[in-house]
Amino acid sequence: MAIITASRNAEKARAVVIGGSMSGLFAAVLLRQAGWDADIFERVEVELTGRGAGIVTHAELCAVLEAAGLDPTTDLGVEVPGRKTLDRSGRVIAEYDCRQTLTSWDRVFRMLRESFPAERYHLGKGLMHIEECGDRVVAHFSDGSRAEGDVLIGADGFRSTVRAEVLPDVRPIYAGYVAWRGLVAENALSDATCKDIFDSLVFCLPPGEQMLGYPVPGPDNDLRIGHRRYNFVWYRPADENNELKRLLTDESGHTHVLSIPPPLVRADIIRELHAAAERLLPPQMQEAVNLAPQPFLQPIYDFETSQMAIERVALMGDAAFLGRPHVAAGVTKAAEDASALVAALDAGGNVQTALRRFERSRMDINRRIVARGRDLGIYLQPALRTPEERMKAEHHRTPQAVMAEIAVLDFLRG
Ligand SMILES: Cc1cc2nc3c(=O)[nH]c(=O)nc-3n(C[C@H](O)[C@H](O)[C@H](O)COP(=O)(O)OP(=O)(O)OC[C@H]3O[C@@H](n4cnc5c(N)ncnc54)[C@H](O)[C@@H]3O)c2cc1C
Repeated sequence: MAIITASRNAEKARAVVIGGSMSGLFAAVLLRQAGWDADIFERVEVELTGRGAGIVTHAELCAVLEAAGLDPTTDLGVEVPGRKTLDRSGRVIAEYDCRQTLTSWDRVFRMLRESFPAERYHLGKGLMHIEECGDRVVAHFSDGSRAEGDVLIGADGFRSTVRAEVLPDVRPIYAGYVAWRGLVAENALSDATCKDIFDSLVFCLPPGEQMLGYPVPGPDNDLRIGHRRYNFVWYRPADENNELKRLLTDESGHTHVLSIPPPLVRADIIRELHAAAERLLPPQMQEAVNLAPQPFLQPIYDFETSQMAIERVALMGDAAFLGRPHVAAGVTKAAEDASALVAALDAGGNVQTALRRFERSRMDINRRIVARGRDLGIYLQPALRTPEERMKAEHHRTPQAVMAEIAVLDFLRG
């Protein structure tokens, strides 16, 4: 007999949250505050750590953290006053004022995780399928257990099982390029390099490519000088049929689908990355790439869902809309989806009506974020198909445009 794993409380409405990363935690923390019972079911069996490396924060993210009862004003991350672009020789060729706080995925995750009851966060629960039974929705997990609630929240990322169940036709679209990412300990870098790159968000623009790097907190949110880390993201074209497949093929010859676990990236691919860094990047960034203990590869995809509300199921975060990372809005979008979802459920009416209200409040803004990511990354695509794409590529590739447009949300506020 299957076990009902979600907690029961006759008084409260109950939410089953699938996915225990940013979206799932934001939703569950805010739901509990609004008086719901919420349980998180995460497929991974061990505590999630170190995902995604650096995160650029925005005022909108801090607002939701505050609403969740957390303090984003103290030690959220490393503050930088602005941005600069380096040429191949390492010389500064352009600068731009833009004060921002740069943090790590770990830092935001831990804040949320510690504010959510441990006994309500269930590891090792991979969703297999969903069933609607009258006014309940039931989640079935790979270990044979199940959980039921009034609402089920798909916060299970871009490969979402929840989405596959309710909207099987929505699939990620490959952008034509990959991001190489890495984290380096500040004290592993030379003093000269630290002096040049720890005071700003730094860009380098090899032809048809883009790299950005910025300081983030060290392990356990260590913000002391000498104890921080340097985070880089290097976008490089890789055509889908040949280069991407090669990059996703491990030592055993197995080609992974969509992404490859960091330890399985082949040694010869890493050697090629180091050689490309020597050829294309300024010396400061070469050093960062060479010293990163385990650079990891993220093929860039995007997609948008046609619905965020399907009966008693809500889709949010990367499960609903995946934007290219140039907007740096993934975590902020997850936070704002969660906030809108809870506000809609709080406003009364039945669950289906509330979820449709949530959907109406978030579709347009999420579409704009995805569209903006496409525009900003268009010049990194291997092929430009229309005059409009070529025009956008010309506009967004200059150092001035890159510094003014990447990782800022002004386009949503204006
Ligand atoms: C190169 C790059 C740079 C980025 N930089 C930034 C940045 O600066 N700022 C920013 O805000 N965002 C950034 N992002 C985006 C950000 O990392 C994501 O948008 C964010 O992590 C999405 O969170 P999520 O919880 O929706 O999904 P995820 O973090 O993908 O979490 C989904 C969770 O669901 C679990 N899961 C999956 N399937 C199941 C299942 N069947 N059952 C149970 N659990 C399941 C997974 O194990 C996972 O823990 C970047 C992304 C990339 C690729």
